[in-house]
Amino acid sequence: MIVIPEHLVEKLFTAEAAFEAVEAVFAAMSRREAVNFPVVRDMIGHADAVYGIKSGFDRAGLALGLKAGGYWPGNAQKGLTNHQSAVLLFDADTGRPTAIVSGNHLTAMRTAAASAISIRHLARPDARVLGMVGAGHQAGFQMRAALAQRDFERIVAWNLHPEMLDRLAGVAAEEGVPFEAVELDRLGAEADVIVTITSSFAPILKRCHVRPGTHIAAMGTDTKGKQELDPALVAAARVFTDEVAQSASIGECQHAVAAGLISREDIGEIGAVVTGTRPGRQSADDITLFDGTGVALQDLAGAARVVELARGAGPLVTVDL
Ligand code: NAD
Repeated sequence: MIVIPEHLVEKLFTAEAAFEAVEAVFAAMSRREAVNFPVVRDMIGHADAVYGIKSGFDRAGLALGLKAGGYWPGNAQKGLTNHQSAVLLFDADTGRPTAIVSGNHLTAMRTAAASAISIRHLARPDARVLGMVGAGHQAGFQMRAALAQRDFERIVAWNLHPEMLDRLAGVAAEEGVPFEAVELDRLGAEADVIVTITSSFAPILKRCHVRPGTHIAAMGTDTKGKQELDPALVAAARVFTDEVAQSASIGECQHAVAAGLISREDIGEIGAVVTGTRPGRQSADDITLFDGTGVALQDLAGAARVVELARGAGPLVTVDL
């Protein structure tokens, strides 16, 4: 079995590699060649942590495995990232474990890739202002990946804890894009694309904040009870997701579905937009929403790509189980 440590994942798993791997597996999901198995995810009653196991199988790419880990909100004070995880891959022909891949950078990059894919396929081509809601560990990854998708001229950003925005401003400076911390009203009035990436349990963006033509990538809600958007905003949008079942149960759409404002049939798969079997944006005035819930297959596709890149990059750490 190959062991791929975090530093090697950081070196090998570029934004381009993540985008390609995730876009391909979204397409495989929409062709029903790849399936996510039911998610186990719960509060463990210790350290305020949410722990889970996500697994799946991509018959097209032959990626079989699981990601285990979760979210420990107190880690930042210990100098650790709040998300901790590892991916275990198995040989699809024999069931033998083939690789264990550190999951932290992998998760950050595959999540950033998902919102970037939604921007590539759903945002207006003339989008020029990027709005960021959230400024935690994941925000910089989402912002960098978003910037690569359109000719963004500036960034407007809001965070519940404004002192965290300085770090995001630093990332914007590295990317050479002007950055301004603003109130939510201004963010919604100026942004053409909005990425939300917070741990919020109550709506942040309301219907009145968002103007026609905006694309929203709502990426923070991945657990029952979390929420970033007012359900009325979700109901006003043309809605897409990575996986409909997750979107309606643990994703941003859980609230609008529970309130009866939308049904599962109203939620389209982004993979179907990628393969051209479902229309995406239909007019410049559409509000499009991507509910990025985070599926196992993103992790497995990413880990499989890392293994492939690692095999071509030199000697590997192997263990006999
Ligand atoms: P983090 O802990 O580093 O940052 C949390 C962010 O949420 C900060 O901006 C913080 O100010 C904000 N926040 C905290 N409590 C809030 C509240 N009550 N209301 C509004 N904002 C609040 O976390 P992170 O690593 O940046 O991840 C952010 C979120 O994204 C988490 O909820 C995480 O579970 C989720 N996530 C989703 C996916 C996915 O695939 N969809 C993947 C990774 C992370």
